[in-house]
Amino acid sequence: MTPSRRGLILGAGAAALSGPAFAEPSDGLALNGRFVQGGFAMGRAEPRAMVFIDGEALSTASAAGLFIVGFDRDAPPSVQLEVRGQVRVARRTLSIAPGSFPSTRINGLPPSTVEPSDPTLLARIQEEIVLKTEGFASRADADDFRSGFTWPLDSYRVTSLWGSQRVLNGTPARPHYGIDLAAPAGSPIRAPADGVVTFARAGMHFEGGLTLIDHGQGLITAYLHQSRIDVLPTQRITRGDVIGRVGMTGRATGPHLCWRMKWRDRNCDPSLMIGESAPENAYTSG
Ligand SMILES: [Zn+2]
Repeated sequence: MTPSRRGLILGAGAAALSGPAFAEPSDGLALNGRFVQGGFAMGRAEPRAMVFIDGEALSTASAAGLFIVGFDRDAPPSVQLEVRGQVRVARRTLSIAPGSFPSTRINGLPPSTVEPSDPTLLARIQEEIVLKTEGFASRADADDFRSGFTWPLDSYRVTSLWGSQRVLNGTPARPHYGIDLAAPAGSPIRAPADGVVTFARAGMHFEGGLTLIDHGQGLITAYLHQSRIDVLPTQRITRGDVIGRVGMTGRATGPHLCWRMKWRDRNCDPSLMIGESAPENAYTSG
């Protein structure tokens, strides 16, 4: 063997190792995504393939074969994905990197927004939970997530990262399941992707003006603290449409958009969807 041939073989080996970790066209599944706590996987497989996570059937691919799966803040280091079509079954073990979640202290919040005790207020909060839950339970048969997201504000400053552990008025609270984008009150909020409005209501106790958008298959984004809402439930919207305005309604200490995302019952980081997209190589049945 000549040195040049040896070099060629070593080069081929290195190329194979650095290739796409999850693309194995032989089983018809291609995957993109952010494999980290709070992230997601976006895949292309057989149309209407069933998507199983750790053995549980959780979703169905769209007519184009696209699907999405979210990883929550406490996702385990390894997740089993299985995609069952009419023709093929594909399996992947996904390694989920740990997120890094800072701790944030917020003081000076009105006590009624941190530890409500008034029975009338508690009843109102309970009613609002039921309404929100309905909005989050929407499961549009769509793949409007396929082209990822754009930022919902033209200009902003990130004031609180997703997943931070919050200490409110000195008491540890739920992690912050939003990313806070500070901007002047009245700034337009734009849909980051196509979708359907499933909830739009002003005056929520915690969230103030709240809108929910369903992007398909249980992927739902939320927009909190709005001073004005410009859409109605069931309304179909397109990326870039103005859906409302930045405000400081509900539990907020200054004008900002708290942007959230859920996949089914899992809280995910919407900013991880920025600039991402579904795999482009089409599924072929041959
Ligand atoms: Zn927030």
